[in-house]
Amino acid sequence: MWYHTVFFLPEDYPPVRAEIVSVGTELLLGQITDTNAVFLSQDLAARGIDVLHRSTVGDNMERLEAALRLALSRADIVITIGGLGPTQDDLTKEACSAATGIPLVPDPESEQAIRDFFARRGVPFNEANLKQALRPERGTNLKNPNGTAPGCVFDCGDRSIICLPGPPAELRPMWLNEAVPWLAARGFTPSEVLRSRVLRFVGIGESLLEPKVRDLMASSNPTLAPYAKTGEVHLRITAKAPDEESAVAMIAEMEHAVRERAGEWLYGVDDETLETVVVRQALERGVTLATAESCTGGLISSRITDVPGSSGAFLLGAVCYSNEAKTEILGVPPEMIAAHGAVSEEVAIAMAEGARRRSGADIAVSDTGIAGPSGGTPEKPVGLVWIGIASAKGARAERNLFAGDRTTVKLRASQAALALLLKTIREESGHGGGC
Ligand code: AMP
Ligand code: MG
Repeated sequence: MWYHTVFFLPEDYPPVRAEIVSVGTELLLGQITDTNAVFLSQDLAARGIDVLHRSTVGDNMERLEAALRLALSRADIVITIGGLGPTQDDLTKEACSAATGIPLVPDPESEQAIRDFFARRGVPFNEANLKQALRPERGTNLKNPNGTAPGCVFDCGDRSIICLPGPPAELRPMWLNEAVPWLAARGFTPSEVLRSRVLRFVGIGESLLEPKVRDLMASSNPTLAPYAKTGEVHLRITAKAPDEESAVAMIAEMEHAVRERAGEWLYGVDDETLETVVVRQALERGVTLATAESCTGGLISSRITDVPGSSGAFLLGAVCYSNEAKTEILGVPPEMIAAHGAVSEEVAIAMAEGARRRSGADIAVSDTGIAGPSGGTPEKPVGLVWIGIASAKGARAERNLFAGDRTTVKLRASQAALALLLKTIREESGHGGGC
């Protein structure tokens, strides 16, 4: 009888250490991104399991075995990703067997599952797939309803290797439905949970936001950490607590403190994008929208229409790149363009007014700018973008000078335009900032 001691942990036992070993030469060549390791890291963190190392190794028996030996020397749970396929270069199980000394034995149940998988697809069984039906003598196979390769667990008593397949659509369900229950069945329950919430800010740079919350950033639990993104800043609150409820309460308290200091620039939380919040608030308040874009080339309207239900609020998106289009479609006077240039406060305002007039929308936003890399002058440098806004209360424009290459300037301009749109939606419908 084999006893599994590692997960029957006394309260003062040190936290369980996990290590992820990603297997595949294509990862080392940079041909694919290791999204599986990101997924597992996030999931393990949420379960309160510490991931202390992550490594990547090619499809090479010697190096894989060495990586596994090293991982087993310092982690309680080693999780491998990939290399479970039927081909010559799929070596993960063989390497685990070598590193642990646990032999591989045929597993009739897995063989049947693979044969059934082929039969369901009407494809003849391939003998090469038989090696996928092997399982560790001490341990178990993990079912894979989404592919041929079963996963498996090499059970070394005080440590384990969990092998998961490479395709994300197979790895994720196997991890959640097979591997996690296997860990739980061993009596392993994390002593703490880790929960995070992301607060998203726009219209304020990291260097201005950070001082407002600097004292809160000194807190070690929950932690508060800033992340500068393109055109927005995130503050991530992370709490470690004995249970979910306490973690959520700790996060709520920190969030309240942050909102008191910077709520005015906060537009959303977690996965909410600026366009999602714009559309949601426009729909909630019965406000209709239009865009008149020059340098963003339709990016603003594209982002708005990415949001399901946007047709309830979005009426018109005009991309007017040439001076003639600005005049013919939006009614910008040619003399205005001649006097001030297409990239000017006046033209931005006239474009927004024109889009509002043509569409009948409550609010229209516009942009005109120099995305680069050429076309800049000392007075009008690359990155200069005027964002115009027109509503029942009048029209105005804001001057922005964005850093970055052409794509980045476009993205930052669309971000600023959506932020101004959101601000105006809130103001027009009589509500202050915050969400
Ligand atoms: P493998 O099991 O190593 O043969 O991998 C099969 C396929 O899964 C690869 O061709 C990739 O498309 C995908 N894959 C493998 N490893 C990863 C990974 N770490 N992250 C995301 N996708 C992966
Ligand atoms: Mg591979």
